[in-house]
Amino acid sequence: MAVFAEKALLAEGWKKNVRITFDGCSIESVTPDATPQAGDERHAIVVPGMPNLHSHAFQRAMAGLAEVRGPASDSFWSWRTVMYDFALSMTPEEIEAVAAQLYMEMLEAGFTRVGEFHYLHHDKDGRPYENIAEHAERIGAASTSAGINLTLLPVFYAHSNFGGQPPIDGQRRFINSLDSFARLMDASGKVTAKLDGGELGLALHSLRAVTPDELQTLVANHGNGPIHIHVAEQVKEVEDCISWSGARPVEWLLANAPVDERWCFIHATHMTKAETTEMATRGAIAGLCPITEANLGDGIFPAETFLQNGGQFGVGSDSNISISVAHELRQLEYSERLGLRARNVIAAAGQSTGRRLFDGALSGGAKALSGATGLAAGASADMVSLDARDVFVRSDDQLLDHWIFADGVAVDSVWTNGRKRVADGRHVDRQRIVEQFRKTMKSLVNS
Ligand code: ZN
Repeated sequence: MAVFAEKALLAEGWKKNVRITFDGCSIESVTPDATPQAGDERHAIVVPGMPNLHSHAFQRAMAGLAEVRGPASDSFWSWRTVMYDFALSMTPEEIEAVAAQLYMEMLEAGFTRVGEFHYLHHDKDGRPYENIAEHAERIGAASTSAGINLTLLPVFYAHSNFGGQPPIDGQRRFINSLDSFARLMDASGKVTAKLDGGELGLALHSLRAVTPDELQTLVANHGNGPIHIHVAEQVKEVEDCISWSGARPVEWLLANAPVDERWCFIHATHMTKAETTEMATRGAIAGLCPITEANLGDGIFPAETFLQNGGQFGVGSDSNISISVAHELRQLEYSERLGLRARNVIAAAGQSTGRRLFDGALSGGAKALSGATGLAAGASADMVSLDARDVFVRSDDQLLDHWIFADGVAVDSVWTNGRKRVADGRHVDRQRIVEQFRKTMKSLVNS
């Protein structure tokens, strides 16, 4: 199987007439300045698949259902009440159907790997299922059904607020002890081991949900895989952390946890300059979720300082209200522009903003999910072809600028593990996946 691209974005930059051959799940060879051969599938533009480093799949079911203004001023915390209602009502079958729909939409958008920050573990009454990894298996099955690479991040969640406060009733499906969590991690490892491109990482829900002792034990037992944590998304969370410890959340983690490039701080929205600089220097990835952060009114990530200090970032769709590689990267840049009243904030002088956003999110996302990406021999055959027929540009990088900012470029085909999952912009199994999703949503919305 081979794909011939008139232009392809390799690690060394744009190349012309690139022939890419597959060997099973992997890329066998990448040859620029090649001649197409009989049987090659021809495409105009091919780029690597983008990792989506932060998702809560079940939240896709409530997209568009929390946009009505309440009696008082709305906030993250009132959104969370709606989210808990959904979290408490879903069955394993419903979770799988919603996740499959979501993962299909991610592929159609050009995402080829998802980091599933998975915290909805138990039955509706809060008791573990007979198989503690019932939902992890459902997430694995949904990823197989759609054909997306999965980095499963089982979440440890034990408390409702700083200082080890007991969980509230609405959190009952999320809660584990260290012992039950060790069993869950074991079983989750068996789920990912069976998947093409499956990876396992550790997630700590937040500093609200885990005590310092628990954090230490979990990190010590985890080995070398990625470690994700929600941190400093909300001002109230920062204030609560200061009242508890005297330190801000990122400041506390940098002082008390072995933070390095294995770590991915999800959101990290509210940081001082000193925190931002040290986080960048220590190599922790900033897991940014620009559309969700805008939707929830979180605030603006201090990208300029972070990037000036060599910080690495990736993007995730988090609440899954909207699934788009282009719009996620666009929102990241636009939030910075609005905050700083400036243009082209993320790029270095003379550089294309689209290219900087794309390269940054590609490499940071891959690191955060232990999933190498890029068009190179030996890499997983995960790639995206773009349709830019009606787009006129002066440089190849401007194709990315157009895709991200100007809506003229569309995702045409997507491959993961050497298999074509999307053709002409539509998932090859769309009908089957959508039917299950529709059935599920009718019953969820009417319940
Ligand atoms: Zn999240």
